[in-house]
Amino acid sequence: MKTINDFDFNNKKALIRVDFNVPLNDQFQVTDATRILSAKPTIIKILEDGGSCILMSHLGRPKGAQDEFSLRHIISKVEDVLGVEVKFAENCIGASAEEAANNLNPGEILLLENLRFHDEEKSGDKGFAEALSKLGHIYVNDAFGTAHRAHASTTIIAQFFPNKKCFGNLLAKEIESIDKVMKTGEKPVLAVLGGAKVSSKITIIENILDKVDHLIIGGGMTFTFVKAQGGSIGDSICEDDKMDLALDIIKKAKAKNVQIHLPVDVIAANAFSNDAETKVLEVAQIPNGWQGLDAGPKSIANFHQVVMQCKTILWNGPLGVFEMENFANGTIALGDSIAEATNQGAFSLVGGGDSVAAVKQFGFENKVSYVSTGGGAMLESLEGKTLPGIAAILE
Ligand code: AMP
Repeated sequence: MKTINDFDFNNKKALIRVDFNVPLNDQFQVTDATRILSAKPTIIKILEDGGSCILMSHLGRPKGAQDEFSLRHIISKVEDVLGVEVKFAENCIGASAEEAANNLNPGEILLLENLRFHDEEKSGDKGFAEALSKLGHIYVNDAFGTAHRAHASTTIIAQFFPNKKCFGNLLAKEIESIDKVMKTGEKPVLAVLGGAKVSSKITIIENILDKVDHLIIGGGMTFTFVKAQGGSIGDSICEDDKMDLALDIIKKAKAKNVQIHLPVDVIAANAFSNDAETKVLEVAQIPNGWQGLDAGPKSIANFHQVVMQCKTILWNGPLGVFEMENFANGTIALGDSIAEATNQGAFSLVGGGDSVAAVKQFGFENKVSYVSTGGGAMLESLEGKTLPGIAAILE
């Protein structure tokens, strides 16, 4: 696996695919610069080598060149975060971009306009990728968030840099973290899968059964498993057409010696509302008119025991409706347990879908080993898929 540490960038122009798809407010100000900060180590290493950086990214989902999606809006934030002046090219390809790239001196940074102003980016057009490739000497992919897309700048472009392509620091760290869970993790390995639906996690569950010793299933998914086993779940969320699948998963887990842990009790509510009346109920004895919206105290204690036994932990998906304060407790308690296990030497990876939002909201970001920067890319990795952006560098 080639990374930026395998290259000397002295007097070289690095063409770096970053993920600067950051949120903007009404005044087009960046409201969360995490993604810019995440790309900083790669950019600084290249500048310190005596190279220059040409940064390319998408922002939002523009239809053609729409000013509201211009990367011009983020220049000052990028300058603040990197502490270096940032030049800007009005178009990501063509004469103006080539001139700006040619005039770039060692130590300087050029940001290209939104790649998605050209439809050819998403269609993975070879000619567009070739036009981009003219701008730099070495191609660096540091955008995990788009690594599952075979777009021009994330995948197709790599073929124009035989032996001159590599992963940036961030993408390398993502790959290493996933490998630590899926391939090289110290046993026992635990996966915690929460969230709303079995259907969106089924491929992950099937793939992960071969890698883990323990599987905690929580959140809304719980009730499909409980009902399939004959429990009463009241008005809790359930996918009736996935009950056979749930039984099949339980069977496969047994055959593979994977211990599945489900909640034994829940915080039940008489409405899907933070103001609803609540009570603690056994998970398989929820009467009509009540629905389980969070893990109960016995479940939290059980999960804590499991987490503390494990040396490698993957967490995807909340244990309850964490967006409502009264049903966030299970998710917070699990975060506390994982933080404690991490503090005692376990490796913990959080990622995929909404998990990162929950982790940030409750301040666990610095208490786990790694928080993935890619929602969809992480989910696809956990499903066992090879991401095209990663394959293109390895080829
Ligand atoms: P996912 O995107 O699949 O990870 O699902 C995340 C969503 O699952 C969050 O918005 C939670 O509110 C929701 N969720 C978690 N537990 C439950 C539950 N018991 N009932 C309904 N929704 C839930």
